[in-house]
Amino acid sequence: MHPCRTALIYSPLFGNFNFGVDHPFKLQRNRMASDLMDAYGLLALPNMQVRDCLPATDEQLLSFHTPEYIARLKEFSSSEEPRADFRFGLGDADCPVFEGLYDYAALGAGATLEAVRLVEEEGFDVAFNMNGGWHHAHRARASGFSYLNDAVVAINWLVARGRRVLYLDLDAHHGDGVQEAYYGTDQVLTISIHESGIYFYPGTGFEDETGEGNGSGYSVNVPLLAHTDDAMYMKAFDEVAYPLIAAFNPDIIITQIGADTFRTDPLTNLEITTYSYSWMLAKIKRLKIPWVALGGGGYDLMNTARAWTLAWAIMNNVKLNPRLPAAFIDKIEPLGYRNRVLLDAMHWADEDERELALTAVEKSIARIKTTIFPGILGSHGDTSH
Ligand SMILES: [Zn+2]
Repeated sequence: MHPCRTALIYSPLFGNFNFGVDHPFKLQRNRMASDLMDAYGLLALPNMQVRDCLPATDEQLLSFHTPEYIARLKEFSSSEEPRADFRFGLGDADCPVFEGLYDYAALGAGATLEAVRLVEEEGFDVAFNMNGGWHHAHRARASGFSYLNDAVVAINWLVARGRRVLYLDLDAHHGDGVQEAYYGTDQVLTISIHESGIYFYPGTGFEDETGEGNGSGYSVNVPLLAHTDDAMYMKAFDEVAYPLIAAFNPDIIITQIGADTFRTDPLTNLEITTYSYSWMLAKIKRLKIPWVALGGGGYDLMNTARAWTLAWAIMNNVKLNPRLPAAFIDKIEPLGYRNRVLLDAMHWADEDERELALTAVEKSIARIKTTIFPGILGSHGDTSH
């Protein structure tokens, strides 16, 4: 057995960009995550490498995006004037136009392509791109802070090589852009667990979105209601995602591990903690499937730092002290952060708020077992894995 080889994708150029002071997406959170990883000694592990990356090329991006959209992005990106073109989703509050925007988005896509290439061609077991996971980017439209869909561009590269891919989206928002790209194929199984689109962006991701044509039964959605807590989240993962991953047994698994599901996230209403988050990632790791992890949402910066530090430790089979290192606490305390622990205790929502969420998740699971399971488990294996 060979030791686990891991890669963290990092380009110093990511530090050059800014969505604007009022935008909820803060690049600062990735710095905080790296600082915390560093404080735990996770950036100098014997079997890990930090790898730089190049921006994705036009040819790679055009495997998903339209030439008109790419041209518009480039044009706006090189302009010093604020510009907008709402046909392409550009220039609203969510997807602001800023100088260098194209370079920023293409670099994020390049980082995910490099992560996938390291696993596919260089035999890495796991690669992690914190600057990826832009799952809301559509073929010709920016949406939800996403301009170029790095996951789709990288998965397209794998599919062209004949690989079967499983895309698991754990962000609080539905992975709509990725689902759309593979809605008609059985080569890529997409699973998204997210806050329900009934009242929540992007308004999609219901159980009955199961794919079409050859892709029928290869698109899986578990919508969750507000107040879904650790116990319910683990139930959804364990009863839906896990058996499907094991049965589909892909050549490679791509996970979007957005950290906006947490109870203190300012944009979402779920009540997850690092308890269920790390429990899930540890289960994925134990499957020993070649694995590429992408960042994603996460608007409580400290939660995101804690989540991705835990994730990186799990990818490297390292157990961490659940209390944050003293040196790190000294650094964050003056900034107003009062966190003391890395790994939260399991959280239960208030009894009177749990009921609705629990009933909903049980209904979703039952429905998916009827619509999706016979196809995937029937043709790819059984639940006894
Ligand atoms: Zn999100």
